Amino acid sequence: MSVVSIQKTAGNDYASIKTAVDKVIEQLGGLEDIIKPGYRVIIKPNLVATPTERLSGGVTRWEVCKAIYEAVTAVGADAVIAESSAAGADTESVIQKCGYQALRDEGIAVIDLKKEKTCEIPVKDGVIAQTISTWELVRDADAIITVPVMKTHDQTEVTLGMKNCKGLLTDVNKKRFHSMGLVEGVCDLVQTLKPVLEIIDGTFGQQGLGPIFGETKEMDLIVGSKDLVACEAVTSLIMGYEIDEVNITVSAYKRGLGEKEMKKIQVVGKQIDEVKSRFKRSCEVASEGLPSSYNLIFDEQACTGCRNTVISALMDMKAQNLFPYLENMNVIVGPCKEEDLPSDATPENTVCIGLCTKKLADAHGFRLAVGCPPGNADTVKAILGDRREYGVRYS
Ligand code: SF4
Repeated sequence: MSVVSIQKTAGNDYASIKTAVDKVIEQLGGLEDIIKPGYRVIIKPNLVATPTERLSGGVTRWEVCKAIYEAVTAVGADAVIAESSAAGADTESVIQKCGYQALRDEGIAVIDLKKEKTCEIPVKDGVIAQTISTWELVRDADAIITVPVMKTHDQTEVTLGMKNCKGLLTDVNKKRFHSMGLVEGVCDLVQTLKPVLEIIDGTFGQQGLGPIFGETKEMDLIVGSKDLVACEAVTSLIMGYEIDEVNITVSAYKRGLGEKEMKKIQVVGKQIDEVKSRFKRSCEVASEGLPSSYNLIFDEQACTGCRNTVISALMDMKAQNLFPYLENMNVIVGPCKEEDLPSDATPENTVCIGLCTKKLADAHGFRLAVGCPPGNADTVKAILGDRREYGVRYS
């Protein structure tokens, strides 16, 4: 029987968060069966990109990682907190913005993986990947603990601890996963790295347009399990999804990576019905405030980097009342093909985002935001083109 623990936090201070994390670990039977003295342990938060505010629900708060760090070192293991943010994002600036420097000042190692030595490791029985490109630190770890936030996601409905492992891939490999198939790629990664524990920071989650620019949703929860699939099945129910709506959970279950059937999962602590609260789905807010004539074409293989860039650019445009520039515009993101183009696409009304779209842009003379992924300022500029006679400045 897989066990999932759900705890309510009593407050927002470190002591309250630590109490909830410790209770989750205790209810899971402690760490001694998965972490031995002398183990090198990686605690992997979700620091995908720089949030507007550290408790916006887009990134894992340091308090949860510190509490896990203390529990891991208490059993005699060595632990580091390690992350590489989304492709193109500067991990160190996310670390600074999210308060993790304070942990470094206390002597806890918080590592920007993008600065570490990379390596390739084989994927046994991989569905889409035969190798993954990661870091020696990850390869050499004895145990990995995945510490995501409770969030919705535009491609995978929810993004939790299994998908959080994508931050253990180099940027090149992250992009490759999006083009090869994100769901099976994540499962290949999980079955290779075998995280031993998932603890979800559900104090502040994020609903709507995840994974970084969604709406903050306070849940005051910590959820954990040594069975990642069970942990995510239960958390999906808390967030108002059916378990089978979440492809990563379903695929990981089919591969035998964990349990998704509730009759085989024991929930301890709070029960799902006591804490559940429906998260607004990504698709429900994607078009709020946008002109109806605006046409955003996201190829399903577009990476998180380009998706974040476009959403961030749209937020900037909204804040500066630039949405009128989107009237009748086609915005193409990801490796779209000729047949994906709208029949009315012209150089005046079509803009391509990212290197993947360069071929289409060159062939048709469309405007192009260059980069892989491009910056959001360049994306806004590409959308605006030379139509800035409206008098709005963007620089
Ligand atoms: S341009 Fe965007 S979608 Fe294409 S590989 Fe780069 S980040 Fe991914």
